[in-house]
Amino acid sequence: MSAVTSTRIVLASRPDGEPNPGNFRTETTKLPELSDGQVLLRTVYLSLDPYMRGRMSAAESYADPVEVGEVMVGVVVAQVVESRSPDVPSGSYVLSYSGWQTHAVADAGSVRLLDPDAAPLSTALGVLGMPGFTAYAGLLRIGRPQPGETVVVAAAAGPVGSAVGQIAKIHGARAVGIAGGPDKCAYVRDELGFDAVIDHRAPDFAEQLRAAVPGGIDVYFENVGGPVTAAVLPLLNLYARIPVCGLVSQYNAATAPEGPDRLPAFMGLILTKSLTVRGFIQSEFVREMYADFERDASRWLSEGRLKYREDVVDGLGNAPEAFLGMLHGTNFGKLVVRVGPEE
Ligand code: NDP
Repeated sequence: MSAVTSTRIVLASRPDGEPNPGNFRTETTKLPELSDGQVLLRTVYLSLDPYMRGRMSAAESYADPVEVGEVMVGVVVAQVVESRSPDVPSGSYVLSYSGWQTHAVADAGSVRLLDPDAAPLSTALGVLGMPGFTAYAGLLRIGRPQPGETVVVAAAAGPVGSAVGQIAKIHGARAVGIAGGPDKCAYVRDELGFDAVIDHRAPDFAEQLRAAVPGGIDVYFENVGGPVTAAVLPLLNLYARIPVCGLVSQYNAATAPEGPDRLPAFMGLILTKSLTVRGFIQSEFVREMYADFERDASRWLSEGRLKYREDVVDGLGNAPEAFLGMLHGTNFGKLVVRVGPEE
């Protein structure tokens, strides 16, 4: 056994509806000695993402759940402390799927080298990583915004939504954001340059949304579901496209929502408006679009046309609370945990 100890956060129990801090447990464990082809990693940044809520449940999904007692899944930026691979030198920074822990042993073939001089390391978890790619692929492949069309997206201050609106504008469309609270709305409008933004907590949210889209909605990039979607549906134009990316307002629901069955009306709308409603998981498009995304996003970032914001929480021990808050919008920007220092 090596002398290296890892502090890790494991799934202690499965939540029933709303998760709570008791669903997580902190443990320490000694890491095994490295074998040939392996690297020892020290986590610098851990990405916290809404999909992790799905992994806490045993319900069938596109990916296997985390087992109770296992370390929580997640992508990290890490520094290589020791290497037994010529391809991944000691001292280098990598992207690794090693989860909520301070140290990990990984196969060198499973990590991706990062260039710390190309962009801030944490951007590999946000604007230049999975969330940015999700926005790029879902919007351009499914949403297909045309110049002059109107694109609506919620969670607009977050990493996916903020990129959706900015990429829509780069493609000549009009971007309308939906966000929670005045600070996020001001950021989306004044710093990201969306054409309009509406607070989904406003009592007259649906009326404000209608006023913000006088020509109707051509692309609704679905991030949240619930009452936001209900307000959007009547405003959709003929041939509107709905990339269904996420339903964060529903992730903690333990039972079906109360009220009338809206499915027949929704199906009727799909028919009469000739809607395209298409769910996707970003990994579907990696092979065909990731290289284009890296080229375009890096250029837009350096040109100042793609902006981003990060919400950095210090200390692995604060990950559960930050994660639980994100499901209700307490994060302001891409949520990352600084687990250890950059050197
Ligand atoms: P964010 O960092 O934007 O965090 C989620 C945000 O959702 C919160 O900050 C909050 O923003 C908003 N939110 C939470 N509850 C509600 C609610 N009840 N009504 C309206 N908004 C709510 O997350 P990401 O940008 O990382 O992810 C956005 C979406 O994209 C999620 O649904 C996620 O699951 C999905 N996703 C899907 C992928 C795929 O491959 N299909 C890949 C990556 C992400 P606010 O305070 O502004 O309301």
